[in-house]
Amino acid sequence: LNELSKVDMEVAKAIEDEVSRQRNKIELIASENFVSPAVMEALGTPLTNKYAEGYPGKRYYGGCEHVDVIEKLAIDRAKEIFGADHANVQPHSGAQANMAVFFAVLNPGDTVLGMNLAHGGHLSHGMPKNISGKYYNVIPYGVRKNDSRIDYDEVRKLAKEHKPKLIVAGASAYPRIIDFKAFGEIAEETGAYLMVDMAHIAGLVAAGLHPNPVPYAHFVTTTTHKTLRGPRGGMVLCREEFAKVIDSAVFPGLQGGPLMHVIAAKAVNFKEVLSKNFSQYQTQIVKNANALANALIEKGFELVSNGTDNHLMLVDLTNMGVTGKQAQHMLDEVFITVNKNGIPYDTQSPFVTSGIRIGTPAVTARGMNEEDMIQIAEIIHMAITDFENSKEKVVESVKALCGRNPLY
Ligand code: PLP
Repeated sequence: LNELSKVDMEVAKAIEDEVSRQRNKIELIASENFVSPAVMEALGTPLTNKYAEGYPGKRYYGGCEHVDVIEKLAIDRAKEIFGADHANVQPHSGAQANMAVFFAVLNPGDTVLGMNLAHGGHLSHGMPKNISGKYYNVIPYGVRKNDSRIDYDEVRKLAKEHKPKLIVAGASAYPRIIDFKAFGEIAEETGAYLMVDMAHIAGLVAAGLHPNPVPYAHFVTTTTHKTLRGPRGGMVLCREEFAKVIDSAVFPGLQGGPLMHVIAAKAVNFKEVLSKNFSQYQTQIVKNANALANALIEKGFELVSNGTDNHLMLVDLTNMGVTGKQAQHMLDEVFITVNKNGIPYDTQSPFVTSGIRIGTPAVTARGMNEEDMIQIAEIIHMAITDFENSKEKVVESVKALCGRNPLY
């Protein structure tokens, strides 16, 4: 950070501190990842200077010939990865991508069936304080109490009863495979559009480790920064017949100029996704999640739905006598980063919660394997059950694990 530290020491120092935090702590936040140096390099280029309102070949600004090449590459690669007819790579974030679909096909007041935030859904799927919940009539569906799985019969029943114009599938904290075919059938039976938000699992989908929603959904949205391991950002995929309405919902509907440096980084990430190494990486994410889940269960932790099929798990801490908030804080003190997370039918408030969410994309990106996961389960157990006595030992173990798997 040579130039930056000459101009702004305060920001330079905070950036260096953050890089050091990423290097020296075990990152288990399920929605985070570490991008490759190539993606990072694309993000820090003079492309940030360029205005390019419009789309490749149809811009409202001059001088777009090079950014057109880049955006076209990103679009073509996204279509190839997921087998989609059309891709819009301009949404600045996952929430923007979701709003683009709402804006494209709904009018304010229309009915939407979306997964309950308290059962693992995302706030942009209809939380009352989010624009999705404020402008639309949202009917939430959830998971069954006995096995914490999505209740497709309930989804069908609610769809028949409320006749939503849009059904939203996809989640932020659901550790199991989502049956997109079942959602597609329910949408067809009830005449609804289906939007799948695959933000969390996009990398697994790309690698064939989770069913692809593209054949079943009218619209598929995603972030590019979670399992996919690209820059922060969003994307919408859709069938050809919706290409125009989606493009015009993103621009000029919701956004102005696209972030061309981010789109370049998306294109680079998509090239990485198309490489052989990517499916090995995703396979290891899933193996690690499984190893960590099993090791936590052996240590006496209860997992929502008793395990995981994907990259994340939800730990119900009720039997450990701590809240999600307390566990997050204790783990933070010993250099392990997780987020407190409500569990289905939680009796604690969303700010306290009874659970934590744990994911393996970031630790896998820095090279950790199943043996490391067993060690992580042990140190999480020590930290949560015997914090004062184990603190020093846990910090040493975290240091050793991070040292063996260097980052940046
Ligand atoms: N959709 C899902 C399923 C998510 O989990 C998230 C973020 O966690 C988003 C959308 C929103 O993405 P962003 O934070 O980029 O707006």
